[in-house]
Amino acid sequence: MTQALEDFLRRLDREIRAAGDWGEVADYIPELARIDPAQFGIAVALPGGGVLTAGQAGQRFSIQSVSKVFSLACVLGRIGEQIWTRVGREPSGRRFDSILLLEQEQGRPHNPFINAGALVTTDELVTGRAPKEALAEILGFLRAAAEDDDIHIDKAVARSETETGYRNVALANYLKSFGNLKNAPEITLGTYFHQCAIEMSCVQLARAGRVIAGLPGTPQMLTPLKARRISALMMMCGHYDGSGDFAFRVGLPGKSGVGGGILLIAPGRASIAIWSPGLNGYGNSRMGSYAAERLARETGWSVFA
Ligand code: GLN
Repeated sequence: MTQALEDFLRRLDREIRAAGDWGEVADYIPELARIDPAQFGIAVALPGGGVLTAGQAGQRFSIQSVSKVFSLACVLGRIGEQIWTRVGREPSGRRFDSILLLEQEQGRPHNPFINAGALVTTDELVTGRAPKEALAEILGFLRAAAEDDDIHIDKAVARSETETGYRNVALANYLKSFGNLKNAPEITLGTYFHQCAIEMSCVQLARAGRVIAGLPGTPQMLTPLKARRISALMMMCGHYDGSGDFAFRVGLPGKSGVGGGILLIAPGRASIAIWSPGLNGYGNSRMGSYAAERLARETGWSVFA
């Protein structure tokens, strides 16, 4: 299996580079707009500690919204079920930064993976302490889960989004007007922009995802129930208004980010990280989604098996 999977990953890497159908990089964050879309990496972490890779699996990229999975994990550890009074668990069917939706939902965001919902979870993490401490908790979780301390925030990306993230500023202010932001908007926003600017390689991200996949022989950081629930939210909401199509094509929980990363979970079997910075119309990695679909078909991994 391992050799066959390794051969498949190599073939997939070659095929994707030959096709050259990369999509467009996110241009609303200037620092991300400079990145060459023609890049691809994949890492598959397996039970027992092995990681198979192909392409640029060691190249660091901005994890952006993939960070929302881990900030949610931290919040669940801190306040547990109470978070659900402030944010829902339903797919949104709208863009990740929709302002219209926030008006309709009366300030209680549909789920923790759209921007408004992630602002609420980050707001909870920064309540009662300094942004630096909240960020240290998220970084600490990632480092412990990946068993790798070399995971950091890209300050240039954080600055770039702080200077231009007007939509998120609007969402945070709007949440505040509904009474669903405990801190000053600029405090929560600053923490959120830095969390999104964490950079990791596919190898590091795949290793961090093992705690959600519940792979034997990895750090015990989440109860099985929490891991299942996070996976359920990834399946229903992890790709925004493209979540249904992703579930249909791939059949595994996944979380995307506008940096082009995808964390894919095959419960009990593998944690997979894919990166290709060119995006599709939903703001999800174009070739990353394709690679996820091909991998799921090749391996037969599915939560609907
Ligand atoms: N930092 C980005 C934003 O808030 C994250 C969005 C994403 O990755 N989909 O717009």
